[in-house]
Amino acid sequence: MKEATPTKASVAIIGAGPAGLMAAEILAAGGASVDVYDAMPSSGRKFLMAGKGGLNITHTEAKAPFRARYSDRAPDLAPFLDNFGPDEIRVWIHGLGIETFVGTSGRVFPREMKAAPLLRAWLRRLRGLGVRFHMRHRWQGWTKDGALIFGTPSGPVTRTSDALVLALGGASWPQLGSDAAWTAFLGEKGVKLAPFKPSNCGFDVSWSEHFRERFAGEPVKPAAIGGRKGEFIVTSTGVEGGLIYSVSAVARDEIEAKGYSLLHVDLRPDRSEQKLAEALARPRGRASFATYLRKAGGLEGVKAGLVRELVSEADRADARKLASAIKSLPISLRSPRPIGEAISSAGGVPFAALDQHLMLGAMPGVFLAGEMLDWEAPTGGYLLTACLATGRAAGQGVLRWLARAES
Ligand SMILES: Cc1cc2nc3c(=O)[nH]c(=O)nc-3n(C[C@H](O)[C@H](O)[C@H](O)COP(=O)(O)OP(=O)(O)OC[C@H]3O[C@@H](n4cnc5c(N)ncnc54)[C@H](O)[C@@H]3O)c2cc1C
Repeated sequence: MKEATPTKASVAIIGAGPAGLMAAEILAAGGASVDVYDAMPSSGRKFLMAGKGGLNITHTEAKAPFRARYSDRAPDLAPFLDNFGPDEIRVWIHGLGIETFVGTSGRVFPREMKAAPLLRAWLRRLRGLGVRFHMRHRWQGWTKDGALIFGTPSGPVTRTSDALVLALGGASWPQLGSDAAWTAFLGEKGVKLAPFKPSNCGFDVSWSEHFRERFAGEPVKPAAIGGRKGEFIVTSTGVEGGLIYSVSAVARDEIEAKGYSLLHVDLRPDRSEQKLAEALARPRGRASFATYLRKAGGLEGVKAGLVRELVSEADRADARKLASAIKSLPISLRSPRPIGEAISSAGGVPFAALDQHLMLGAMPGVFLAGEMLDWEAPTGGYLLTACLATGRAAGQGVLRWLARAES
């Protein structure tokens, strides 16, 4: 007599971003029957967008400073990062046939910089493992009986599964799929969420009309903030770019607390204030301020524009005060740009609502991963690393939970 094949446990994953896809890989490799649902017409839209400017997937920093990037959520994320951190991520990428390289700042990129080849190889692997994909399936909560409801082009459908992974993303760039509409469905189940806030975002500054018209779109480089070198861009509404993102969490919280945040930007990070003051103190003769600033201060273009915009005429006439302003130019940030424009978001489901395997305390069998959890990190590969690490942990958590439920 033929032995009956044991039925595989079924797992639904909603969200085909990096966190959901990583959970799918673990679950399918672990023997589960996996269905991935996503509202968008194709998988990994934000992941692909992240690859546009060069997919910075992780960082080679030592363990302690790496962890510190997650500030007060570091202890919550540590077990997941220890289990699947930068080294493991690189091995995993190489296993997909994608080479990586380490940039001068320690950031890790795929050799081709883009996300598309990696995503293609990954989806191929997942399909090979038997994962089924259901695109244009917008999750709309649960029925009274606990089935999942999806809106699809051919009308609503309901689905059930033995376990569920939600990897629905944060609240930035909603046009790529993560629109945070899910907060209502979890809210109805009694899950208390930390409000979403923009992270790695630009800020509004009250530029004069003249400055805005003349310099919007100009990069300011090199520059430094708090000793960290980099660059940023003057926009028509304020400032954005890598250097600004690196201080955006602190600036955002400061604005929330007192209504503004004062940024101190070093426009000559390669020159000491003393040397600059000495050069600026030499007789100016009949040179215009622009020529004087270029020759003695080494500033022109947008940097000179910033000095004119933000340093008083009296201070510009005093070499010592001018040098001090160039080394520590105060830019008053009024408000963060809207969350839709931010690279990522802070807020979401707090770790306190989850057990150590990322299962919701209020809903046994429902696991969460990725940016929808309440943590934030700067750019530098830390975002994707935590999404992949929590995706993996959620997948492992489900396997463990299913095994327990069976025994
Ligand atoms: C411009 C840009 C550049 C970036 N660059 C980098 C970088 O270089 N390095 C880095 O580490 N990070 C970067 N990030 C951040 C990184 O892309 C995100 O942190 C990461 O994609 C989040 O992964 P996730 O799986 O949690 O969510 P997401 O990638 O947002 O995926 C969530 C998925 O859930 C789906 N979904 C949401 N709601 C529903 C619903 N109701 N029903 C069905 N499906 C739903 C969405 O369609 C989406 O596909 C960048 C982000 C942006 C916007």
